[in-house]
Amino acid sequence: MAASDTAQTTEQERLILDSVARFLDRDVKPHVHALERDDIYPEEIVERMKELGLFGAVIRPEYGGLGLSCSTYAKIVERVSTVWMSLSGIFNSHLIMASAVQRFGTEAQRREFLPRFASGAMRGGLALTEPDCGTDLQAIRTVARREGDRYVIDGVKTWISNGIHGQCFALLVKTDPSIQPRHRGMSLFLAEKGPGFTVSRKLEKLGYKGIDSAELVFDNYVIPADRLIGGQEGRGLQHALGGLELGRINVAARGVGVSQAALNEAVSYSQLRKTFGKPICQHQAIQIKLADMATQVQAARLLVENAARAYDSGERCDMEAGMAKLFATEAAVNVSLESMRIHGGYGYSKEFTVERLYRDAPLLVIGEGTNELQRIIIARHLIERNPV
Ligand SMILES: Cc1cc2nc3c(=O)[nH]c(=O)nc-3n(C[C@H](O)[C@H](O)[C@H](O)COP(=O)(O)OP(=O)(O)OC[C@H]3O[C@@H](n4cnc5c(N)ncnc54)[C@H](O)[C@@H]3O)c2cc1C
Repeated sequence: MAASDTAQTTEQERLILDSVARFLDRDVKPHVHALERDDIYPEEIVERMKELGLFGAVIRPEYGGLGLSCSTYAKIVERVSTVWMSLSGIFNSHLIMASAVQRFGTEAQRREFLPRFASGAMRGGLALTEPDCGTDLQAIRTVARREGDRYVIDGVKTWISNGIHGQCFALLVKTDPSIQPRHRGMSLFLAEKGPGFTVSRKLEKLGYKGIDSAELVFDNYVIPADRLIGGQEGRGLQHALGGLELGRINVAARGVGVSQAALNEAVSYSQLRKTFGKPICQHQAIQIKLADMATQVQAARLLVENAARAYDSGERCDMEAGMAKLFATEAAVNVSLESMRIHGGYGYSKEFTVERLYRDAPLLVIGEGTNELQRIIIARHLIERNPV
């Protein structure tokens, strides 16, 4: 990249981050508590997110998106998650679907779908998980049978983010359930809601409120053959996992945002709360907690930046994304708990923000591949890159 390109990117990044900061202050902060408490989908905020272009953040300008780098995108996600993590899920699952089309779709699919995804007129997410499997995706049972120039799909997907309010999903199915290795029988479709594709229920959650998580049922759902991403059967797992690289960096960035918010709350509360005649931040036991928390947040941020840079350079970055996801999300769980402890009894109260952060953080160690799986991925790549 030329020096002038870098300067332009930096300026573009500054402008977009400023707009995001204004949006968060004006349109989000005043409403988070009530929306979260009542688990309400934030319709008006979504309209503002459309205007900001967030639904097209990493979609290329020729298809109507902002064409941001993953590095800039990760900073947006961090800032949004510092205020309300749920919002990042509304555009991130959507962008993983869009990235699958952008990277692996046919030109006709890109032209047909990406402009509508970029404007937010058509939103959605990624439908991989099923009631009987999440980590072991090759065990999915949703099946697509070819009938002439269409497929008929039957199966159930669960935990699908944006399942109720989204209109279109990247849907992982088996096009050949008997073939070995199993991934060669897997394909990814762009499935729009219609007859045979229904939402069977909304799932209730510990945290991550506001965004809808749902179970989707496909019963004799007929889909044209040209909705098969890339037009070729047997590539579905590869396409879904390619999208998850971006997803994992995003989840890691959410972890940084949640940890930073929990740290901010602790730093300010510890200066206000007094015990034994002095603010608790002057007790060494609290200082040690604050120091460890701040160090984890910064280390997590650097790992996210490192993974985003690798992604932007066009390399496969499963190991970097895995490390960032693992460290930053464990940091979110740990830092939110420590912040709650620093708040004493108030930390357990619904009136304090840290209670929400503590409920939101655990999702991060599960979503986009559990942290147990991340360790396996990191170790596998470590060995692959260092053969003897
Ligand atoms: C709020 C929320 C939103 C979600 N959004 C989406 C979405 O939009 N789209 C989507 O497709 N899915 C989504 N998911 C599903 C999520 O991706 C899965 O829950 C996750 O991948 C884990 O799968 P599982 O729940 O089936 O757990 P399992 O795969 O059953 O795993 C259970 C436990 O076993 C461990 N484990 C499994 N295999 C191994 C192994 N080989 N070695 C060591 N440990 C192992 C796991 O780490 C975990 O601790 C969402 C989940 C939640 C909670």
